[in-house]
Parts: sequence; C-alpha cells; structure tokens
Amino acid sequence: MLIDSHCHLNFPDFAQDLPETIQRAAALGVKMMLTVNTKLSEALDIQKIADTHENVFCTVGVHPHEAMDYAAPGLCEEIITLAAHKKVVGIGETGLDYYYNKSPKESQIDSFKQHLEASIQLNLPVIIHTREADEDTLLCLKSFPKAKGVFHCFSGSEALARQALDLGYYISFSGILTFKNAEDLRKIAQFVPLDRLLVETDSPYLAPLPHRGKRNEPSFTVHTAERLAELKNVSFAEIATTTTENFFNLFNKVKRPA
Ligand SMILES: [Zn+2]
Ligand SMILES: [Zn+2]
Repeated sequence: MLIDSHCHLNFPDFAQDLPETIQRAAALGVKMMLTVNTKLSEALDIQKIADTHENVFCTVGVHPHEAMDYAAPGLCEEIITLAAHKKVVGIGETGLDYYYNKSPKESQIDSFKQHLEASIQLNLPVIIHTREADEDTLLCLKSFPKAKGVFHCFSGSEALARQALDLGYYISFSGILTFKNAEDLRKIAQFVPLDRLLVETDSPYLAPLPHRGKRNEPSFTVHTAERLAELKNVSFAEIATTTTENFFNLFNKVKRPA
C-alpha cells in the first residue's frame, strides 16, 4: 500500500470525477491520501471530502501565498478551532515562499509561526512548503523545537535537506523526482534515510513522468515511488511499506488499518 501524503482534492480540477479519482488510486494501491488545506475559507470543504471518503484525511492551514489574507494575531486560535474535526491529522500547508513572494515576507513568517504554535498545542505534525527561503525557514523551526513535521514536495538544496533531517523532520518527494532535469534532487533522495521518506503527488500540479503536463492525481504516487525504489536500490514493495509506516509514525492521529 502507498499513501499520497499531499494532494489538493478540493481543487476545481477534481470537481467532475473525484470519486472515480479516489477509486483509481485505491485500485493501484494508493489506499490513503491526505488532502491539504491552503486557505481557511476552504477548510470545511476539505473536511466534507474527508467525511465522504473513508480513506481520505485532511489538514488545516494557510499556504504562504495566502498568508496576507489571514494575517491576524488570532490565526493560531482559528486553526485550533478548525482542527477539532476528527479527520484533521496535520497543520498546513504553511511555510515560506520567497520565490513567488505573493504575500509579504513578514506576513508569511508570522503565519508560519502561528501554525507552528498551533501544531505544538494540538500535537499534530506541520506540513512545510518552502522555496528560496532556507535560512528563515530553519530559523522559524529552530524557534519551535517541539514541532515535528515534513518538508513537502522537496525541491531544495542538499544543505537544506541535511538540516531538515538534523532537526528531525521528514522529507517528502513528489513527481519532480521523475523529471529529466532533476538530477540534483535524485542525489538528495539517495542520502535521505529510508525511515524519513514520504511520497506525495501535490496533485493536481506536477504530474510525474510519463504523465508530465497532464492533470496530476493520487494514483500517480506510484511513479514517484517506483523512481525512489530505483534510487534507493530497494524493491518497490519496500518503498511502499516504509513510506506508509513513516506516514503513520508522523501522522499518528491516523489509525493503521487492521
Ligand atoms: Zn506546497
Ligand atoms: Zn500543496
């Protein structure tokens, strides 16, 4: 079994065929998925999807792009309130994106810190999105040493990966791992210990080869896992078992299937 640890099932790309998409994933062994919140205004939509589909879990959080719209001292409390739902198992996605800088840095940092605070109070892992913001990301994490979580859709440097691991974080690889020009990322995947790896699609974005350019969907987690198995020189079955076990260790509010 595989778990897609990061997808966006509430996005309009899935409006026409969500049940079929979830079934297609399950048929290929992707038996569980985590649909990740990017704006609080959609938190309840996501919870409804998780209520409808037994194998879908969800998170609460504000993407760094949207940080400006939710900048307020009460953000932490708002997250905590929305996270009371039984299928909310993580906080995010949050973090810092200085590549697009769609929200001012100050509001991104403030939002990130309030997510970290909420994650500690709730004892839930945090899902980190970081791009061209290594130093500030690490500074924020170091100021919340009790937090735990995952660097999602990892596309950073080797130095960032090593520091994330040193701080106890997991590293999740997406379809980018299959892209022709991702040689550096594949080198990073080779040194991340097996017990810190997760896989994800970040669908509907970033479809892996051989589907690049199409809509991405949870069933495509298989392609990233295949590539990861090659890189780690282990069987596909071992990558599936290990990343699934890692998911349950990190997102420990999710019960392991009997
Ligand atoms: Zn992201
Ligand atoms: Zn995402």
